[in-house]
Amino acid sequence: MDTVNLYKELLSRFGIEKQTLMLAEEQGELIKAINKKLRGKGDRLSIVEEMADVVIMLQQIAQFFDIDKEEVNLIVNKKLKRTEERLAKGEV
Ligand SMILES: [Mg+2]
Repeated sequence: MDTVNLYKELLSRFGIEKQTLMLAEEQGELIKAINKKLRGKGDRLSIVEEMADVVIMLQQIAQFFDIDKEEVNLIVNKKLKRTEERLAKGEV
């Protein structure tokens, strides 16, 4: 099964509300992994794994709302450019 169909299946099985809650849960797990590593107890791989979980949930939600990677990247680049300009002006 390709990723698009897998996400479609997961969204149809669990629904957008549950998958949105899963995104929040995965974000929490990522923060926990980062905090653990910063306290000297965790490992880098756990952070990578939790990042992957967050990406998977984000991709599902993006697919639900018919938002593609290019559309998001366009806005990301715009925001990064704005931040860069603010940095140069000493506003950040
Ligand atoms: Mg996780």
